[in-house]
Amino acid sequence: MRRLKFFPAPYPDECYYSIFCRYFARSGSTSNKRTIFELFGEAQSLAAFVFLPRRLELVDIWLGADSPVKREKLALDNSCYAYFSTAFTRQLYEGMERKIKTGEPDRSLERRIIQKCRRSHWPERLRYCPDCAREDMERYGETYWHRMPQLPGVEYCLKHGTPIRDSEVTFRQITMAFCPASHALQCLPLQEDAEKKKYRQRYLAIAGDTEWLLRNGLKLEGCRNIARKYKELFMEKGLTTAQGVRYPDRIKTAFTEYHGEGFLKQLFQDKENYLYWLDFVFESVSEHLRPLHHILLMEFLKGSSEKFYEAIPEIEPYGNGPWPCVNKICLHYGKDGAKKVSVSYFNGLTLGQFQCETCGMKYQRSNTEQVFEEYVEHVTILNYGHYWYEMLRECVEVKKLRLTETATVLKCTTTTVKKRADEIGINPNQNRKSCIYREKDGSKTDRSQYFRRRVTELLEVQPELTASELEEQIPGAYAWFNKNDFQWLKQRLVVDQEKHYWAEWEEEQLKALISAYETIQKTGDPDRRITVGWICSVAGLRESEIKGRLHRLPNIRAFVEEAVEGKEEWLERRFKKIAARKKLAGKDLKMADIRREMSLKPNTYQKYGTFIDGLITELNCCIQGKKSDKNGLNYQQE
Ligand SMILES: [Zn+2]
Ligand SMILES: [Zn+2]
Repeated sequence: MRRLKFFPAPYPDECYYSIFCRYFARSGSTSNKRTIFELFGEAQSLAAFVFLPRRLELVDIWLGADSPVKREKLALDNSCYAYFSTAFTRQLYEGMERKIKTGEPDRSLERRIIQKCRRSHWPERLRYCPDCAREDMERYGETYWHRMPQLPGVEYCLKHGTPIRDSEVTFRQITMAFCPASHALQCLPLQEDAEKKKYRQRYLAIAGDTEWLLRNGLKLEGCRNIARKYKELFMEKGLTTAQGVRYPDRIKTAFTEYHGEGFLKQLFQDKENYLYWLDFVFESVSEHLRPLHHILLMEFLKGSSEKFYEAIPEIEPYGNGPWPCVNKICLHYGKDGAKKVSVSYFNGLTLGQFQCETCGMKYQRSNTEQVFEEYVEHVTILNYGHYWYEMLRECVEVKKLRLTETATVLKCTTTTVKKRADEIGINPNQNRKSCIYREKDGSKTDRSQYFRRRVTELLEVQPELTASELEEQIPGAYAWFNKNDFQWLKQRLVVDQEKHYWAEWEEEQLKALISAYETIQKTGDPDRRITVGWICSVAGLRESEIKGRLHRLPNIRAFVEEAVEGKEEWLERRFKKIAARKKLAGKDLKMADIRREMSLKPNTYQKYGTFIDGLITELNCCIQGKKSDKNGLNYQQE
């Protein structure tokens, strides 16, 4: 691959594929294959370029770093990346942003994004607006493939109100061929769809929102944030319980009423159960919602994607005020007294900050589903407030209380007292009686061993253990570690929020691993041993990310155990193939064949010597009669 002699300047709303088509035509090339190799250096399917900014890493090579056409501009102005980002998880979105910025090649990311954009929902043919095509001809002397008409639900041109039409060019055709619009769109007969005309306004609304998402989709920050906002707006509409649990039937009825049954049926081509995805609207990692679904939901909730983006839900995510104070020594504790400082949204969390007007204690909540009674057990205090510090000072400096006594008065732990006292520069231990606590040495080591053993045992059966679960199962353990070796325990426990996070994380990674495994099975080197590392690298993950976390990922663990080949398994599989080939030639398998074909390391022969010898003997005497092969290899085909 080298710098190109020229590269057509992209037209407004032109899709990436179309730019290549014009390059092909203008370069005078007569061979699709030659141009594909010239551009990509290898065989490359072209269809996804209609929607997605693939192979961005090549842009610098084609154009040189000084070109005004940049990766970012191509991704935003000439692909549907922003539109599809509404269905992206945070990880995918960040991966894509990184790729655009750095231009690093990342095949695994591309594969995941294509999966996400659901090939099966692409239209059958490339589509166009006849009036746009005519205008293009007048203005530029040629026409091109626009992005908008290719997107689902766009049936009318937003600019002309003209019905969008199918061209002769199919998606199948363009996988390996450049079909410039100027050639394809000559003298096509016009067709009019009376059924679609009935819902012209609705289609135009979809086109309007599609255009808005193409420009602004990234502002919505991916499906997790969108799902959270859906929940709040559904709540506002009375379509959920106060806790945010959906009323599925009410939602379906209201949604159908808004869009009209006839329109929805036409849009989803009378597919059975065409509104199934409404059941997944609140799921932040949902696989079910496509951008078109998002458009319909946003219209239903706020009239349009833009208004949805601007809407601020009226509901109070943490209930109505006055909010309770969390200061245990304040009169308002657990009842009232606090006002709302702010509610903000960050990384899919709804952060609410509240402050007591009497004592000044300020706290933050981040889980709207957690009831206050539960929250108050593990509060996040941002500021202890003036009253609490005054009381601390009084305990230490006026009443001359010892550390434990101070903690009792302030209704908190001694650790808290120490930390806060440190902040305001007083020594909470200044009133300590001269008394030395002495642990009975023998009993201390006993307990240390005892608790470590018990916790280790418990972790065997319950690898994801939270502090409260531990306290239930081994009373006293938490307190003991807290005092003696908290670090040891901390490394082994998870917190509740983490559990949820890891469940989501695991689900997402497992999908990537499975699809990587399928890719390996289809296109990978069949002679190579299938290892965790290999699957991870195809999936674009770091091996350590997965291996180091297997203890908390039971589903991935199960998959890995199933998919990964042990050394002996792999040797057996390879040997069988070689043996089968020799057998066809009427010969026996010899050690020399193995040495020639497999280039094993010397210590493999040492370590697996007996196994290898046994295997060779076995294969030579009874290759056909052996039990069926795990990997389904068929010897006759070899
Ligand atoms: Zn048009
Ligand atoms: Zn208070």
